[in-house]
Amino acid sequence: MNIATKPLDLKSETAALLAALGVDSAAFTGGDMASRTPVTGEVIAHLPTDSADDAKAKIDAADAAFRAWRQVPAPRRGELVRLLGEELRAHKADLGRLVSIEAGKIPSEGLGEVQEMIDICDFAVGLSRQLYGLTIATERPGHRMMESWHPLGVVGIISAFNFPVAVWSWNAALALVAGDSVVWKPSEKTPLTALACQAILKRALARFGSDAPDGLSQVLIGGRDIGEVLVDHPKVPLVSATGSTRMGREVGPRLAKRFARAVLELGGNNGGIVCPSADLDMALRAIAFGAMGTAGQRCTTLRRLFVHESVYDQLVPRLKKAYESVSVGNPLTSSSLVGPLIDKPAYDAMQKALEEAKAAGGSVTGGARVETGATDAYYVKPALVEMPAQTGPVLEETFAPILYVMKYSDFDAAIADHNAVAAGLSSSIFTLNMQEAERFLAADGSDCGIANVNIGTSGAEIGGAFGGEKETGGGRESGSDAWKAYMRRATNTINYSKALPLAQGVSFDIE
Ligand code: NAD
Repeated sequence: MNIATKPLDLKSETAALLAALGVDSAAFTGGDMASRTPVTGEVIAHLPTDSADDAKAKIDAADAAFRAWRQVPAPRRGELVRLLGEELRAHKADLGRLVSIEAGKIPSEGLGEVQEMIDICDFAVGLSRQLYGLTIATERPGHRMMESWHPLGVVGIISAFNFPVAVWSWNAALALVAGDSVVWKPSEKTPLTALACQAILKRALARFGSDAPDGLSQVLIGGRDIGEVLVDHPKVPLVSATGSTRMGREVGPRLAKRFARAVLELGGNNGGIVCPSADLDMALRAIAFGAMGTAGQRCTTLRRLFVHESVYDQLVPRLKKAYESVSVGNPLTSSSLVGPLIDKPAYDAMQKALEEAKAAGGSVTGGARVETGATDAYYVKPALVEMPAQTGPVLEETFAPILYVMKYSDFDAAIADHNAVAAGLSSSIFTLNMQEAERFLAADGSDCGIANVNIGTSGAEIGGAFGGEKETGGGRESGSDAWKAYMRRATNTINYSKALPLAQGVSFDIE
C-alpha cells in the first residue's frame, strides 16, 4: 500500500496553476459552484455558474462567430489549431497537473490526456488540407457531379468528468478546422480544467490574428440544466455528448425532436476473451491496465473477462496477486498506480455492485476502501470478482474498478456472452490463433465499435474513429473520417452541355 500522508495545499496550488495557465481570476468571484478535488475531497475553488440567459447569449455569440469563421479558408483555420497544439505543448505540465488534481488521475495519465490533445491538434492541422469530397460519375452527358463539404454551425460539446480535457479537444480541433464554432458544457465535476483549456485557446487566438472572430469558443459552467439549454437551442445543429447512457437517453430524443445531429459517446461494459493460445504474460499486463487503470473510470475500462478453462488456473491466480499488490493512493504525492474514485456516489455504487455480485454467487478479491485520513476522499482496492455466470451487476456498467471474471469452454458461446450486454464500446481478444482473432474481428464476432487483438480495451489512439454501438450511442469522434459529422455535405451537379437531359430518362418537354 502506498498512501502518502504529506499534507497538501491543493487550493493554493490550483490557484497558482490556473494563474500560470492564464485563467482570469475574476472567474472566481462570487462563485456559487464548489469544485472539489477527489484527491483529498476538499473544495479547491468556487466559481460562478452560467444562467440560462448567459448560455443563450454565448450561443448567439458563437453563432455570429461561425458566420465569419466559415469564410476563412480551411488551411488557415488549421493554423489556429496548430497554434493551439503549440500552446498545449508549452503548458502540458501545468494542465496535466491540474487534470490530476481535478479528476484524480495519476501523473502519467494526466499528462497523457494532454498529449492526446496535442495529437488530435496535429491530426486536425493535416485534416485542414484534406476535407475532400468525391467526384462522382454522372449518367448525363456534359454534366459533372461532385460533393462539397461545408462548415455546419455551432457545435455543442457536453463532456464527462473522466476525460475532462481530451474529449473537448477531440471535438473542438475537428470543429474548428471544419469551420464551426464551439460551445462547451464540461462536467460540473471538472470545470477548472475547462476554463484552463479556454485560456490556452485564447493564447492561440491572440497569436493567430484578427481573422478569428470573437466568440468562436465558449464555455458554459453549470449542471445538466445548462446542458439542456445547449441541447435545445435551435442555433446548435450538432451536439456531441459524452457521458452515461442515462444522459444519452435524455439528450438523444431532445436532439431528435428538433432534427439536430447527435454524436453520442455513452457508457461501456467492455469485455475481453482470453483464449487457450494467449500469451498470458502479455494478457496479464493488458488486463491489469485495462481494468485497474484510471481507477476503473474510463469508458473503455475492461469490466468483463472470459477466460478459457484450460488457462483459467494459470491466469486468474496471477491476476488476483496483481490486484492484491497494486498500489492505491494519493496520485500527487506517491507513485501509486490507482488514484481515487471521483466521489462518494461512485464509491457507494461500487459497494452496491459488489454486494449484488456476492448475492449472485460471486467471489470477491479486493474492493475495500483504503483509508487516507481524508474523510471525503474515496480510495478503493480494485476488485476482481469470479462469477459463475454473466448475471446481475455484470450486465451493467458500474463506473469503478470491478473486473468480473468468468470461465468459458466453447469459443462461440464466449463470443455470444461477450455481445450479450446493452453497451457496445470496446473489446479485446487475447490469442495467438489466427482463426480466433479473425473471427473476433469479423461480422459475427465482437459487436463493439472498438475490437482489439492482443491489446487491452482502453488506451485508444486518436487516429482511429472512437465510439461504440448499441447503448454506447453509435457516435464517432476523433480520427478517421469522424470529421464528416462536423460538416454539411452538399451534392452538386453542374450542366456544361447545351441540352437539359433529365435523369432516369424522364421527359418533360414543354412548348
Ligand atoms: P454523466 O452522464 O453524469 O455526465 C456527463 C455530462 O452530461 C455532464 O457534463 C453532465 O452535466 C451532462 N448532462 C447530464 N444530464 C444531462 C442532460 N439531461 N442534458 C444535458 N446534459 C446533461 O457522466 P459522468 O459521470 O460525468 O461520466 C461517466 C460516464 O461517461 C460513464 O458512463 C462513461 O462510460 C461515460 N463516458 C463515455 C465516453 C465515450 O466516449 N463513450 C467517454 C467518457 C465517459
